[in-house]
Amino acid sequence: MTHKVTLIPGDGIGPEVTFAARRCIEATGVKIEWEEAIAGEEALQKTGELLPEETLESIKRNKVCLKGPITTPIGSGFRSVNVAIRQALDLYACLRPAKSYPGVKSSYKDIDLVVVRENSEDLYAGIEFEEGKTATLEVIAEIEREAGKKIRLGSAVSIKPISRFASERIAVFAFEYAMRFKRRKITVVTKANIMKFTDGLFLNVAREVAKRYAGKIVFEEALVDNMAMQLVQKPHNFDILLLPNLYGDILSDLCAGLVGGLGVAPGANFGDGIAVFEAVHGSAPKYKGMNKVNPTAMILSGALMLRYIQEGKAADKLETAVKEVIAEGKDVTYDLKPAPDDHTAAGTQEMANAIISRIKK
Ligand code: NAD
Repeated sequence: MTHKVTLIPGDGIGPEVTFAARRCIEATGVKIEWEEAIAGEEALQKTGELLPEETLESIKRNKVCLKGPITTPIGSGFRSVNVAIRQALDLYACLRPAKSYPGVKSSYKDIDLVVVRENSEDLYAGIEFEEGKTATLEVIAEIEREAGKKIRLGSAVSIKPISRFASERIAVFAFEYAMRFKRRKITVVTKANIMKFTDGLFLNVAREVAKRYAGKIVFEEALVDNMAMQLVQKPHNFDILLLPNLYGDILSDLCAGLVGGLGVAPGANFGDGIAVFEAVHGSAPKYKGMNKVNPTAMILSGALMLRYIQEGKAADKLETAVKEVIAEGKDVTYDLKPAPDDHTAAGTQEMANAIISRIKK
């Protein structure tokens, strides 16, 4: 069977790492018809738009997309093209696995965590009121009337909406993911002791959903500040973390740090029947076109994609090849060498070539 997949090369190092990932994915033997689409700087130059409608249509049509990182142009009026894609396609679940690979510099070993982050609301809904604007003063006056609390003059205000609907669908996503991939435990992470209504709702809904999986998946609760400490002290105690948007963003970077950083951190964004796979890292513009950066995060995002399209064997093959090349430590990029100026470091495409050779062995 041939799978149709939208491929967005992206900006900065995006084209290099997506090209490397594409070659590695193809080496597994899975048949993919790539439909290239543009977003970001290239799209702005060619079409006058950062996120052309055709690109969104391509993802909607193919339902699966492998996406390179996209630079957020400062002062464009766009908060982020990446956030715009997530919102336009209602990609409400952000999945970020953090797994140890021997050979990657890290203070920890044998970590296997999965962060499931709600992606559609919370403080990232983009509802903000700027200091001093008329609308802001009106919002502040209304809040003071309704909540009976004073807001300091000269304040800016951000709104944190958390709904039952979004909380339920992300909790169900986390439990279904746990069932499908035979994980043992879900820890819901909030600050419900302080934000009783918003985080409180997220927690209560997670508790309700957890009851449906009682006896199958262990369910635990934690406060986000305490969780940050526990993750540093005893990360092996955790399995899947379920979080609202902001805490999910912060703790997923912490988890990426536990396993050696951005070069090896893959990610995926899911909606209903649609998914976009991308590395956690950004477009690292200073390394653009240098064939220097680590393609692993993008390649492992490709492995997540293969699992999603029911090509589990190919995904295993790809992940094993990545693991072996990293463990051997020879054909790896500068960030995986003992010193960053190691002259034996492989380039992006050379590391991909080594992975391809392992796949074909
Ligand atoms: P970044 O992740 O692009 O880079 C930060 C640093 O991390 C780099 O300078 C480099 O030292 C290291 N790094 C990143 N990827 C690496 C790799 N594959 N191999 C080795 N080292 C790597 O973060 P930034 O500099 O804050 O952001 C640059 C641009 O990317 C911004 O415009 C930002 O908005 C955008 N961004 C996009 C996405 C996305 O597309 N999903 C995510 C994050 C940031």
